Amino acid sequence: MVPIVQTVQAVRPGSDPISVRHIFLKPGRDRPVLNGHPWIFSGAIATVEGDQETIGVADVFDDRKQWIARGLYNPKSQIRIRVLTWEREPIDRDFFSRRMVQALALRENYLFTTTTAYRLINGEGDLIPGLVVDRYHDFLVCQFFSSGIDRFKQDIVAAVSGLVRARGIFERSEGRVRDEEGIEPSVGVLSGEAPPELISIDENGYKFLVDVRRGQKTGFFLDQRDNRVLLSSLARGQIVLNCFSYSGAFSVYALGGGAKKVISLDSSKPALELAEQHLALNGCATEKSELLKADAFIYLKECDTSFDLVVLDPPSLAHKRIDVSAATGGYKFLNLHAFKRIKRGGLLFTFSCSQHLSIDLFQKVVFGAAVDAGRRVTVLKRLGQPIDHPVSLHHPEGEYLKGLVLRVLD
Ligand code: SAH
Repeated sequence: MVPIVQTVQAVRPGSDPISVRHIFLKPGRDRPVLNGHPWIFSGAIATVEGDQETIGVADVFDDRKQWIARGLYNPKSQIRIRVLTWEREPIDRDFFSRRMVQALALRENYLFTTTTAYRLINGEGDLIPGLVVDRYHDFLVCQFFSSGIDRFKQDIVAAVSGLVRARGIFERSEGRVRDEEGIEPSVGVLSGEAPPELISIDENGYKFLVDVRRGQKTGFFLDQRDNRVLLSSLARGQIVLNCFSYSGAFSVYALGGGAKKVISLDSSKPALELAEQHLALNGCATEKSELLKADAFIYLKECDTSFDLVVLDPPSLAHKRIDVSAATGGYKFLNLHAFKRIKRGGLLFTFSCSQHLSIDLFQKVVFGAAVDAGRRVTVLKRLGQPIDHPVSLHHPEGEYLKGLVLRVLD
């Protein structure tokens, strides 16, 4: 990526109709931006010229007043600017269309034949920081996670409508990230028809029902698609414990792959009810399948059954960097007790979806758990996100999902 550098003379504050503020960085703080990192924190900024109070487009300059990037400014967020482009182009509907064409090509080339549900836009990984768009068959679900991108909602809806034939576009912007940005939750129809209570999707020959209004994330864990396929290929004849099963997607794949028995464990009744529907829909609601409403932390510690294969896919235990050390305790506890429940030669699929926990730290924590459980363990594979959840090489923070497939030798 070669940033186009222009001098400040050509773009004095006020002379540019697109940008209403100019941000001047401290010496040396331009390097990450020039290297393609999209986040500029408040500490990197020397001065702001123009409107400092409102959210909107900003031009970014280095300390020698050279133009380097254009992004979205939020005076209330720690991430003061999210860079959208390193070219002097207007931020408008056409801009978002161009980004979306690129994103859509990836999905259409590689996913079109395997699934009717995928992530169409994955924020920074698709060069639109703060935006998530998931496709569930003929409906789209959007999440606007930054107040800057929230201002472009209409342009984004128009851009995506122009590219993808959808019956309706639904918004599901809520949660911690929005709270931190200082924006209210926003949920409802953005365009077209309201989605049905449950949208039916097909993934690798399996059927699932997605509740885009109340389900976790935008309704389904699209990010585990490839890991489900791997699990299915290793499940034949196995007795499986699927902890944190949510709507039972891993369970359906395990039974589809020939598992002898699968216990789906979750603390949420609605999640288990949906899992029950998914198992029935895929012909898996037989004596081989059991649903268990329980706290995984307590169950794993207290149960005395042994399993051939355990899946551990807890919700994020570290929402912020500061939570990481407490979270490692939670991951260690879960993995320690899972190891104790796995038969010799058995497998553990263990995950962390905490953005702040690196794969190396996660593996160290799991290693500590294996040692404390007195088990000898090999790593068969490291797991991550599928191709519709791309991670920008310039923004490694986007790699939130980490997993390990482990074999317990003795
Ligand atoms: N593995 C799932 C996604 C898991 S999401 C999939 O691939 O679809 C995390 C799940 O953990 C949620 O369904 C939530 O209800 C459940 N959960 C949260 N805390 C729990 C606990 N202490 N014990 C059991 N389940 C829990």
